[in-house]
Amino acid sequence: MGFSRRDFVKASVLGAVAAGVGSQAKEDPRTSQAHPAASDSRAPQAYSAASDSCAPQANSPKLPIIVCANNGFAYLESAFAFLKSGGDTLDAALQVVKGPEDDPEDDSVGLGGLPNEEGIVELDACCMHGPSRRAGSVGGVRNIKNVSLVAKAVMRHTGHVMLVGEGAERFAVAMGFPRENLLTEHSRKIWMLWKEFHSNNDWWGPGIADPSWQPPVLKPEGRPQSELWKQRVRKMQARATEIDIPAEHQMAAIRKVLFPPSGTIHCSALNGKGEISGCTTTSGLAFKLPGRCGDSPIIGAGCYTDQDIGSAGATGSGEENIKVAGAHTIVENMRHGMSPQEAGMDALKRIVRNYNGDMNKLRFMDMTYYVLRTDGAYAGVSLWQGYSTGNPHKIAVHDGRLRAEETVSLYKGWSQEFPPVPELP
Ligand code: ASP
Repeated sequence: MGFSRRDFVKASVLGAVAAGVGSQAKEDPRTSQAHPAASDSRAPQAYSAASDSCAPQANSPKLPIIVCANNGFAYLESAFAFLKSGGDTLDAALQVVKGPEDDPEDDSVGLGGLPNEEGIVELDACCMHGPSRRAGSVGGVRNIKNVSLVAKAVMRHTGHVMLVGEGAERFAVAMGFPRENLLTEHSRKIWMLWKEFHSNNDWWGPGIADPSWQPPVLKPEGRPQSELWKQRVRKMQARATEIDIPAEHQMAAIRKVLFPPSGTIHCSALNGKGEISGCTTTSGLAFKLPGRCGDSPIIGAGCYTDQDIGSAGATGSGEENIKVAGAHTIVENMRHGMSPQEAGMDALKRIVRNYNGDMNKLRFMDMTYYVLRTDGAYAGVSLWQGYSTGNPHKIAVHDGRLRAEETVSLYKGWSQEFPPVPELP
C-alpha cells in the first residue's frame, strides 16, 4: 500500500484536528503541530466502485471456497480438505474458528481471551446454516471455551436462537461442554496491569505505603502532555515488572492496557453444491463491562447467511456494527445487485453516516467485513487499512489456493488508538 500512517496523518485527518475540531484532539500533541492549513475533517475517500476487483467479471470465482479473518489462516488447509471431501459448510467454518478458540496465545477469542473489567472472560458467538436456514447464538458465556460450537448446539438442540449468560453456560454444560478457567496467566497479567492503571480513583495499584508511591500530578499545566505520558509509561513498565510480565512483552501489554483491543474471528464456507454457512466467535472488547454483548453473537450484525444470496461477517467496533446491522445489510445489498465489495463498502458508509463523516470520531474506530456470495465471489473490506501499529487488515481465503489478501479500505490510512496519546517507545 505504501502509505504510512505518518503520511496519512500529515495529509488529512490530523490536519483537520489541528484546525481545532474537538477538545480531545487539542490535547493530542501529535495533532497540535505541523498541520496548520488543513480544514477538511472528512478524510480522503480511497474506494471507488470502478476499482471493485471483486465484481463478478473480475474475480473468476472458484468453488468450494472458505473466507475468514486472518487469525484463522492456520486452520484453513484442513477445513478446506474437509469441505472438499463433502463436509458440511457450517462444520467446515466451525473447524476454522475452533482453532483460535482453543489457542491460549490468541487473546481475542476463546481460551486466553482478554477478560472483562472484573477479570472474567466472557465469550460471544453465533452461526447460521444456509442449507437448513437455521441459526444459533450465545452471548456473555463464561467458563466454556468453544462457544461457536455451543451456538451450533443451540441451533440443533433447542427451539431458540439465542441464549445468554448463566443460562447459556448451563445449557453448554448440559450438552457436555467442559467448564474450564479461560483466564490464562498472560491475559490475567495484562488485566492486572489495566486494573492498576486505568484509574486514579480507586484502591488498585501501589498504595501510599509503597516506597515508590508518588502523589498524582494534579496540575499538569505547563508540562507537555508528552512528558506526562512518558512518565506514565515508565510507571507502567515498573508495575509490569512487579506483575512478572517478561521485559520483552511489557510494551505489548502496556499498549493493550492503554488501547483496550478487540479481536474476533468470522468464517464463511461455500461448497461445490452452492451451500453456504457462516459463524463468528470472540471474547469481545477487552475490559468491557460485565454482560456487554458485542456484535458477534447478534444474527444480522456479526454474521448473516442467506442460502439464496451469500454470507457476511464482521470484526471490529461491535457497537458501530450493531447500529448498521452490518452483515444483514451486506447480504441484502448483494440481493439487490451489489457486488460483495460494493455491498461491504455501503455498510461501512452507513457507519460513517452515523457520525456525519466526523473524522475526529471515525479515526478511533474500525470495522472489517468478510463477504462471500453463493457464486464464490468474495471481498474483504475495512474502514481503515489497518491499525496504527502498521498491521493491515487481511482476509484469509482458500479456494484450492491458500492466501491472505489485504482488505480494500474505505479510507486510506490507519485507525488511531483510543484514547489518543503521544507516540510510545
Ligand atoms: N466485534 C467484536 C466486539 O465488538 C470485537 C472485534 O471484532 O474486534 O465484541
